[in-house]
Amino acid sequence: MNWSLAIHGGAGLIERQSLSVEREAACTTGLHDALAAGQQILAAGGSALDAVMASVQSLELSPWFNAGHGAVLTSEGGIEFDASIMCGRTKRAGAIAGATTPKFPIAAARAVMETNRHVLMVGNGADAFIAKSHLETASIDYFRTAERMAQLEKMIHRQRYALDHDPDETDTYGTVGAVALDQHGHLAAATSTGGMVNQWPGRVGDSAIIGAGTWADERCAISATGHGELYMRGRCAGRVADLIELGPLSLEEAANQVVHQEIQSMGGLGGLIGVSHTGEIVMPFSTGGMFRGWSRADGTVGTGIW
Ligand code: ASP
Repeated sequence: MNWSLAIHGGAGLIERQSLSVEREAACTTGLHDALAAGQQILAAGGSALDAVMASVQSLELSPWFNAGHGAVLTSEGGIEFDASIMCGRTKRAGAIAGATTPKFPIAAARAVMETNRHVLMVGNGADAFIAKSHLETASIDYFRTAERMAQLEKMIHRQRYALDHDPDETDTYGTVGAVALDQHGHLAAATSTGGMVNQWPGRVGDSAIIGAGTWADERCAISATGHGELYMRGRCAGRVADLIELGPLSLEEAANQVVHQEIQSMGGLGGLIGVSHTGEIVMPFSTGGMFRGWSRADGTVGTGIW
């Protein structure tokens, strides 16, 4: 039976020389672990929704990606998670923004979806919802790693804010996401991030916004990564779906148009992963690299950065 899975660990100006051999190996292992978590579910006939959640949770446990444990810090040294998830079959979606407590932000987004009442919970309200839902939480010490503190100090020193993957950054690991087609022909997408290094407290990016960072319907599932302000203004994930429906363009044509033409012409760099209802996978990016991985029912498995 046909199934497909794609994951990303963020797009950025990742230069070969700025990534040590050890870190490249650690990131690649993280990608393979995340693929294994999702593909196990898909191969056993499980749902695309469960698969994207398992893959993203695996990446959220890793210190090497900007989500969960490895999330970047705000200008005040705090943590603010954005995450969203969408089921293509039901078009139900859930998201959190500016939450500070969940160990697995994507599980919080899914819990919001499952309330069947709200789509997006933010800040204190999101944290209260997480506590009430008895989701796993972690203290600030779990997230405030030595590497992230050093990265923030460097950014503050330069008086700027940035994607977690600037050319001269060595601690460069990005937002995470997953998209999947399951054996029943259903699609799902999920995205999770700590946002941008040294962002103002209260800033929310595309990863929390259904239709910008995440989208799934009956034709495609999309998870984006990149400069969130531009990815929101370009309505990245939903725009790809619109072009497929109304173009009508193929997934590949639509994804390339959005990433390489529409958002790039506004000055936005980044990328996306997408899967279609036939299992086609696309992974365009306009940056120097994008941590990514893919796996299909036919046994094709791979990862890439550049
Ligand atoms: N899109 C994320 C944000 O703007 C950042 C990223 O993809 O690395 O919050």
